[in-house]
Amino acid sequence: MILIVDDTPENLFSLKKILELNGFDVDTAESGEDALKKILKNSYFLIILDVQMPGMDGFEVAETISGYSKTKDIPIIFLSAVNTDKKFITKGYASGGLDYVTKPFDPDILLLKVKTFYRLYQQNLELTKIQSALLIEIESRKEAENKKDEFISIASHELKTPLTSIIGYVQLLQRSLKKYEDQSVDNYLSRTNLQLGKLRNLIGDLLDISKIENGKIEFNKKEFDFNAMLSSAIDIVQQTQECVIIHKKSVEAQVYGDGMRIEQVIINYLTNAIKYSPECKEVHIETSITAQHEIHLKVRDFGIGIPKELQSQLFEKFYRVEESATRFQGLGIGLYISSEIIKRHHGTCGVVSDPGKGSQFWFKIPLKKSSKQ
Ligand code: ADP
Repeated sequence: MILIVDDTPENLFSLKKILELNGFDVDTAESGEDALKKILKNSYFLIILDVQMPGMDGFEVAETISGYSKTKDIPIIFLSAVNTDKKFITKGYASGGLDYVTKPFDPDILLLKVKTFYRLYQQNLELTKIQSALLIEIESRKEAENKKDEFISIASHELKTPLTSIIGYVQLLQRSLKKYEDQSVDNYLSRTNLQLGKLRNLIGDLLDISKIENGKIEFNKKEFDFNAMLSSAIDIVQQTQECVIIHKKSVEAQVYGDGMRIEQVIINYLTNAIKYSPECKEVHIETSITAQHEIHLKVRDFGIGIPKELQSQLFEKFYRVEESATRFQGLGIGLYISSEIIKRHHGTCGVVSDPGKGSQFWFKIPLKKSSKQ
């Protein structure tokens, strides 16, 4: 609705008619005081305000309106017969007006202005609607995300205890059955152990996610021999894989950090390199020292590769490349945990990949304890 404020009833009448003929709802007020009462009670998208009125003049009305949060954004067009002087027009804008029309005005021009304000008002309404819808959707997504994190945390804690007992009992069983020299029993138990190991790693990853989310992941940092740790990581992966891990280039280095956690990153890079390379024959690994005194590790595979446009998302939580997700098992959390571990060592990580030719996952971490640690 539009409010016209003018102390001359004929002016009110003629302007009201023009606007109503063009489909606008119109309300009128014959004085500044009357206008203020109406403005506080009703909602208007535009106020057309006469400047010269006995009692409260148009400028005073505008200044008062701009002081209330409910009304401060209502656009005002001033109508004035006398004050065509620049300083009055300036005062009109300063008191909150958005336009200034001098009488006698051309009704067509005024109508065009009113229509423009109406369009702006509608666009504003639309924007506000979109904004509040977006806010609700974001918030509900955050809530769902929190619930999911909570569930993961509880479920993985609950799963860990029985799994640890099962692993213990299977190992006891394997030892007790050794004396029967039955090869097939030993085979089955070894396979059971292998699968239990996978399950333990999976639960470990889920627990890590919860710890990262709650800011509770802890690092036991000290100087460690990088090469010794790397050989241990390679051995762990090689034990269960036929694909050959070739240590191409290495450097001797003492690195400050949590060796177990860095080993976890390397194991993740290596198992991914093998997993995402059907008929994998070789995976290459190399290390070097950068000019910035960092250890730089690269794991190169010759597998399926990753399309360029998806590479930046790989380190996000639960992200998996859609086209290959059904072919390869996984949860999409290994790289997320890896990147968090590297970040907490003040390092960087990334990938270079060519679809169909293979990928190279890398990380760099400072050799020495930095002042930030
Ligand atoms: P997961 O392997 O359990 O899905 P990760 O977080 O380790 O989880 O990896 C995220 C995604 O990155 C994988 O689902 C896969 O799409 C892609 N990816 C990771 N490593 C490789 C690789 N070496 N070659 C091709 N794709 C890879």
